Amino acid sequence: MAETAAPISPPEEPAPPARVLSVHAHPDDQEFSVGGTLAKWTQAGSEVISVCVTSGEAGSNKYIPAEVTRETLRPVREEEQRRACAVLGIREVLFLGYPDGALAPTLELRRELTRLIRRYRPDAVVCGDPTVRYYGTSYMNHPDHRATADATLDAVFPSAGTRFIFPELLADGLEPHEVAAVYIHGADQPDTFVDISQVMETKVAALMEHRSQLGEWDPREMLAGWAEEQGRPRGLPAAEAFRRMVLAQPQ
Ligand SMILES: [Zn+2]
Repeated sequence: MAETAAPISPPEEPAPPARVLSVHAHPDDQEFSVGGTLAKWTQAGSEVISVCVTSGEAGSNKYIPAEVTRETLRPVREEEQRRACAVLGIREVLFLGYPDGALAPTLELRRELTRLIRRYRPDAVVCGDPTVRYYGTSYMNHPDHRATADATLDAVFPSAGTRFIFPELLADGLEPHEVAAVYIHGADQPDTFVDISQVMETKVAALMEHRSQLGEWDPREMLAGWAEEQGRPRGLPAAEAFRRMVLAQPQ
């Protein structure tokens, strides 16, 4: 007698990690891409540390008055990022001070990110996908996004967990740390879906803190469209989709 195949049910949504390091190139990247997931996790008790590799001082040309310079824009964008993080329930925001628009995945950046992973010892790291160059037919992935994601993944593995990579970190008391999981947003073939339908308003509110970038534009409709598209493979009304790498057991 033929065995009946078990129905294929979608894998469950992973439990919120206890401690998370969320790494992005610019203020607002996190809110556009993973704000719903982070809001959901902090509401469940996760501690999230947010890292901005630049301070977004190159901004956008759209809503910025002519008299604004890189120097005057920097503190504005940092403040907007802090406010957005507060909306998401994130208390700690770090700015690494690299130049906006001119990032490269250097060993120096990899070392800085390795330092942070060893210092904060996150269970999960959230970042972008450095391998994606094109989204659709009208957006080429920003080189700062690719550089940040590349350096972050290289910091997660092998640098953070290997004692004799960047041995100068040991001298600062930073012992190796193995990150249990990496959540990569914007991936071509996502395999992990976080239902954000209960936190959509929080995601919108966090993004709207970036007033220097949004001007009067209301991003609600666009975010809802993205969330619907990302949830479709799992039949979710609103989701953020990730490629998830599971590298170790949570410590
Ligand atoms: Zn960006």
